[in-house]
Formats: sequence, structure tokens, C-alpha cells
Amino acid sequence: MTRAIESCVHCGFCLAACPTYRELGQEMDTPRGRIVLMKQVLEGTLPLADALPHVDRCLGCLACEPACPSGVTYRDLLSPFRALAEKKRRRPFLERVRRWLVSATLPHPARFRLAAWMGKFARELAPLFPKSFRAMLGLIPENVPPRETWPGVTPAIGKRRARVALISGCAQQVLAPDINTATIAVLARNGIEVVIPPAQACCGALAWHVGDIGSAQKFARKNLAAFPGDVDAILTNAAGCGSGMHEYHLILAGTDLADAAEKFRHRVMDAAVFLARLGDLAPFPDSGKATRIAVHDACHLLNAQSVRDEPRALLGAIPRAELIDLPDPHLCCGSAGTYNLDQPEIAASLGAARAHTIIGTHADVVATGNIGCLTQLKLHLAKQGAEIPIRHTMQILRDAYAAV
Ligand code: SF4
Ligand code: SF4
Repeated sequence: MTRAIESCVHCGFCLAACPTYRELGQEMDTPRGRIVLMKQVLEGTLPLADALPHVDRCLGCLACEPACPSGVTYRDLLSPFRALAEKKRRRPFLERVRRWLVSATLPHPARFRLAAWMGKFARELAPLFPKSFRAMLGLIPENVPPRETWPGVTPAIGKRRARVALISGCAQQVLAPDINTATIAVLARNGIEVVIPPAQACCGALAWHVGDIGSAQKFARKNLAAFPGDVDAILTNAAGCGSGMHEYHLILAGTDLADAAEKFRHRVMDAAVFLARLGDLAPFPDSGKATRIAVHDACHLLNAQSVRDEPRALLGAIPRAELIDLPDPHLCCGSAGTYNLDQPEIAASLGAARAHTIIGTHADVVATGNIGCLTQLKLHLAKQGAEIPIRHTMQILRDAYAAV
């Protein structure tokens, strides 16, 4: 944390990139402002309670990192600070109940599926619930898709060119299980054998980003033990999971697994990145139909993992696909893990703005690499009456392979 604080020279170049500054226009809700606040708390010159509202409003979107000429690694500061703060703060009762509900369900697919099913009925009674619960109910989909399962090993089609392990995700496999089905199909089609380790757990990112280091460490430990060493890479198809797993060295810092976590995180890669780098993509049939694809960069891909070109290279290989870049690609859609539950007003404003931008492109479909963005943008596109489908990059690729 100290290095991140000391490398900030207070130049303010990050301000324009920060969505909360754009929304609220206050210095204390900028990366620079938050760095000063966190520094003062750590030095004991500012009460924690004075900094918390501003730190809580941070999306963790990391748009400030690429904007910073001094190379401040804001990620090294935010989650570790939140983990420290969580031990000292006392949250109101209802907030504690809501957070407990989220942490007891979201990372566990079976429990989350049951909660989502029950939540469908509870949504009818939403006005009777406290405000802090209403945002949670609003995010539950009308129809939870049927459960899908995947084989422990899916062989490569044709000559095997690589062998990977895939993290199957927690919330994603309930909200949109087809994303895993599509990912496996696209990888196998491209000569990649896909292993789904049965003992894997949630990646831990949701817990880590809200300062619950105990749970984050528990999940990270499970995954370190669950993923095999004899694969070319550990793949994720959710930007948030990939970004969280790249921070296992922070989550497990100072523990017996610190070295193992450091090695592990370098093996984690987004599925689109692995496929694009492997190259020699299996050719797509020409459907004869032009498709305009708007690409929404998830901030945990673009800002946190510097992934921009690879999904575009894959989508651009589809015959007659026209890719549309959105303005201000670094801007978060407001999903950001559980942010749309913790800060529903800011999240809704950012979601509405992003949906408005997408509508203006007149795209046929929106591509993204993160279930959080997909859920958030689907909600806000529908709210604005738009019927543009939003799909995971892997779903678009899989469907393009099936096109005739
Ligand atoms: S751009 Fe970097 S150095 Fe400048 S204020 Fe922001 S975080 Fe600090
Ligand atoms: S992580 Fe995002 S919201 Fe937080 S300070 Fe950086 S740019 Fe702003």
C-alpha cells in the first residue's frame, strides 16, 4: 500500500478518467482524493469514518491506473485498505444482513440458484422491503435459465493444440450458463482440450473487492489446490474473475501460500486472450449476413488486464462483422461486482449512460466479456426500450461457427 501511496504525485491526470468524479464532481471522490484519504487514515491523522463514504463509492474499475503517468498501482491500495477497514467498521444491522445474504449465496451456485428462484416471488413484494434490499431484488432475472453441467474434460476437435483448465464461475453459471457452454465449444473447435476441475470454488473476487479477506483467502486456497499444473493456462470467461485471480498474490500476501499465489496468477488468462494468441482460428462459415457488433470493454478486462485487441481480433474474424467501438471505453457500466447493490444510485446512472451510448450506435448486437456488464446493460437497455441483444464474446463466436 505504501508504494502506491508514495508514487502518487497529485497531478490529477486520473480525474477525468474516474466515473465517480464525473458523477459527483467532488475531489474526495477521485482517485487522487481517495489516495490522500487512505494515506491519512493509515497515518492516523483522519478518522476512518471520514474516509469511508468516499472509499465505498469507488467502483474499483481501475480506470485511474492506465490514466496515471506515474504508474500508481491503485489496485494495490484499494482492496487491501478495504480489508483493513472492514475489521474496524461497524455497519448498520440491515446492511450487515444484506451483505451476509450476498456472501452466503452469490459465490455458491446451488444456493444462488435457489435464492434467485425465491427472489422472483419476493420481487412482487419489493416495495415492502427496505431500500437496501430493493436493488438486490431488481437484479434477479425474470427467468433463471435451466441448470447446465459440463464434462470434466472436453476433448479438442481435431488435432489437440493446447490443454486448458476453465473456471466455471459462480453467479455466471446460474445467470447465464450458456456462456460456459459456448466457451467450451469455441475452445474445443479450435483444438483446445478443456478441463473443468471439480473441486474449484468461486474465484473470490466479489469477497475481495468488498474487503472480506477471510472469504477471499478461503476461495483462493481452494482454487490453488483444485487447478492442475499440467495445463497450458487457467482460463476465465468473466473479466471480474480474471482480474480477481490476478490479485491472488495480494489476497494471500503474508500467508504460507504467498509464493504459490504469485506463480498461480501468472497462469490465469482470459479465454479470448488465450485463443487470439494461439492463433490459426478455425474459419467461420459465411452466413451472408452483415452484423454490426458494438464492443463493450469490461473495465476488469480493459483497465485491470489491459485486454482490448484480442476480443476484437476474434470477433473481427467473423465474415461480414463490423465492429463498433464505444466512446470512453474505460468507463464502467456501474456493475463492478456488487457495486450495483452497494451504491444503486451511481450504478443506475452509469448503467443508463452506457445503455444510451450503445443505443446510439444502432448495433445489431453488443459483445462483452463479463457477466456483470451483461446483466447490468441488459437491464438498462430494456429500461430504455432497446431490443439490442447483449451477448458474451464466446456466445457470438459459437453462434458464428453454427451459422450457415
Ligand atoms: S494520475 Fe496518478 S499520480 Fe496523478 S493524481 Fe492520479 S493517481 Fe496520483
Ligand atoms: S477505481 Fe474507478 S472509481 Fe475508483 S478511483 Fe479509480 S477510476 Fe475512480
